[in-house]
Amino acid sequence: MGVIKDILRTMDYGPSPEGSEHVKAWLEEHAGGFGLFVNGAFTQPRDLFEVFNPATGEGIARATQGSPADVDAAVAAARKAQAKWAALSGFERSKHLYALARHVQKRERFLSVLETIDNGKPIRESRDIDIPLVARHFYHHAGWASLIDSEFAGTKPVGVCGQIIPWNFPLLMLAWKIAPALAAGNTVVLKPAEYTPLTALAFAAICVEAGLPQGVVNIVTGDGATGAALVAHAGVDKIAFTGSTEVGRAIRKATAGTGKKLSLELGGKSPFVVFEDADLDSAVEGAVDAIWFNQGQVCCAGSRLLVAESVAEALYAKLRARMANLRVGDPLDKSTDVGAIVAPAQLERIKRLMREGEQEGLEFFRADESLPARGCFYPPTLVTGVEPASVLAREEIFGPVLVATTFRTPDEAVALANNTRYGLAASVWTENVNRALEVAARVKAGVVWINSTNMFDAASGFGGYRESGFGREGGREGLLEYRIADAPKIKPSSAKPARLNAAPGLLPARAVAGSELDRTAKLYIGGKQARPDSGYSYAVLDPAGREVGLAGLGNRKDIRNAVEAAAKAGSWGAATAHNRAQVLYYAAENLSARAAEFARRLRAMTGASARAAEAEVEASIRRAFVYAGYADKFDGAVHATRSRFVTLAMNEPWGVMGIVCPNEAPLLAFVSLVMPAIAMGNCVIAVPSASHPLSATDFYSILDTSDVPAGVVNIVTGEANALAKTLAEHDGVDALWYVGDAKGAAEVEALSAGNLKATWVSASAVDWRKAEGREFLRRATQVKNIWTPYGE
Ligand code: NDP
Repeated sequence: MGVIKDILRTMDYGPSPEGSEHVKAWLEEHAGGFGLFVNGAFTQPRDLFEVFNPATGEGIARATQGSPADVDAAVAAARKAQAKWAALSGFERSKHLYALARHVQKRERFLSVLETIDNGKPIRESRDIDIPLVARHFYHHAGWASLIDSEFAGTKPVGVCGQIIPWNFPLLMLAWKIAPALAAGNTVVLKPAEYTPLTALAFAAICVEAGLPQGVVNIVTGDGATGAALVAHAGVDKIAFTGSTEVGRAIRKATAGTGKKLSLELGGKSPFVVFEDADLDSAVEGAVDAIWFNQGQVCCAGSRLLVAESVAEALYAKLRARMANLRVGDPLDKSTDVGAIVAPAQLERIKRLMREGEQEGLEFFRADESLPARGCFYPPTLVTGVEPASVLAREEIFGPVLVATTFRTPDEAVALANNTRYGLAASVWTENVNRALEVAARVKAGVVWINSTNMFDAASGFGGYRESGFGREGGREGLLEYRIADAPKIKPSSAKPARLNAAPGLLPARAVAGSELDRTAKLYIGGKQARPDSGYSYAVLDPAGREVGLAGLGNRKDIRNAVEAAAKAGSWGAATAHNRAQVLYYAAENLSARAAEFARRLRAMTGASARAAEAEVEASIRRAFVYAGYADKFDGAVHATRSRFVTLAMNEPWGVMGIVCPNEAPLLAFVSLVMPAIAMGNCVIAVPSASHPLSATDFYSILDTSDVPAGVVNIVTGEANALAKTLAEHDGVDALWYVGDAKGAAEVEALSAGNLKATWVSASAVDWRKAEGREFLRRATQVKNIWTPYGE
């Protein structure tokens, strides 16, 4: 350090290292290695792998590589503990979560230092952001635990949850997973990332210290294979995963057909949009928090700067000046802004992507290339002139690299923002409130920050659209991921066994001849009746095997046309909820006017008694009324997060939904599934009951006469599982509901991994008389959280 007058001249900080002696002593105590935390105690360390400090490259600890047998033991412990844990009163569970929060808070300094040594993030961040948010998460969920019975009536815990977390926010991701799971009455087996297992192990010790019952939390360290064993374990009821889209996709496939509940929080390539009227100085500070926070190793990092052409050069100049002041170096130094990259493999990945960018001839700016002589460091980098097709604009770099592209109009800004397969977050900078809210509505992302960035709070849900995954963490919607409806499965009362399921008899009855008087029900696509592409129809039989009509045999091409028609009708989602309600009421009214005809059709197709058929029609009319009523009442929320912010939780439609109906209750099931979806603003492709499709094809004229815009409801008849497969594979379908058999359900889940569409499947009998309510609306929407500055 220089003399005082030098210091005054440069105003430079001297070194200000955070004390790490307690952490070092703790690590020393465990020099023999860490065991796993199973059933409330640590196992003997064995099969050890080395854990490194990325800032120095030194080995700091050794942890146990969990084997499938270890996973088995941990799941067994969690299973054993679960019933008792769930049987505790909400108040008792709340006290446990509160104790965990208190103990984390007491250990804040220790945990911050440990996190920094293990992960390489600046102590300023682990101390001021990560660990306080961990405590906040446990406090918040202590609250939910005591409110479970009143606020989540009609639901129960899922059971044993397998949770897999990444290395970028090790303890925070643990808190995001464990706190809601425990509050909701579940027990957990958590696998931390191989690079960063240490704070999870410290947390295990805290569980003992805080008196958490044995087996409620189990921690199994290890690599991807340990994670895969947890995913595959038959004793796990739910998997919650945060990490790469690639592994998320593999987990989607691995859990398909197992009945495991799944939530995925995956990668991102989030836009940071700066309009010409933005406060550029604030936007620069925002960019620092967006991309240089945690060395850019943040799933929701604002890694794509989209800036209005007219202010681009001014913004770049300010950014370059600010970058010159970012201090890269020892993460334990309290004045360090940018710490170490987590591991050599990640550093190499960043360098590889930069080389690819250099080959494209992009312009790179790095303020100061001098980095610490050892450890994994990468300098803050700004890349300008990046075309949307560039690898740097498409790939998640997961490093301190901001890539910049310019735009001319707000429409172009939105198009660029949405020009990604991801949809985790977005940040919008403008002094024009109308523009900010308009962009917030149009951008496809689970979180939108207006004139702010990287804001998190336990009271607000966090999670993505599109290939950023599905499910939310935090808030009420996050808690719902850890509860299931407690209604027992009920056998259908009226439905006959599905003949065509038992004997796949969808044989083409005959070609649809163009010239003869054609009484074959066609398909319904884009508001028009359309002949099936195959040119074939199939015979619809009554229970005695007599033909009661013919229906079109839809195929892949018909599904593709229907998806296209649904995508074109997207303005339905922007119609007012009141408008949508009116259309649903109108459909109910028209159905009511033709109730006798629909009842006759049901009787003819299914052999139901007159009474049962009339009851099904009546229930369908009522159901349409219920969702018309809900259309403008399933509203969002304003979360109580940080002061000076309103966090709006908006229920947005998925967009294009596929709906595959079961054989039973051909009219009621169809109405029960389609009505909530369109009430929320989705456009649907419905595959009606394969064996009794004629109630749905009769419905065309109801749609025609009820002001349902063309393309909002498309109906493709045919072999349900084959059509479901096409819907699952189609990247233009955003969400897919399937009710059918186990094979079809498994296939739908596995094939949906392509674009990671959200699925909701059921292979068990449903009592359609009762299949109604908010759960259908929740499944027909995804929550977008919009953070807006508010107040002084
Ligand atoms: P991964 O997705 O591989 O790791 C996340 C977690 O999943 C880790 O605990 C990992 O174990 C585990 N895992 C790995 N393979 C499997 C599997 N087959 N089944 C179950 N669990 C598995 O991410 P990486 O650490 O490899 O990072 C690669 C890239 O992923 C990053 O560069 C970044 O782009 C992205 N990423 C995104 C994150 C986000 O928050 N969305 C977080 C981390 C990474 P192990 O640690 O042993 O590999």
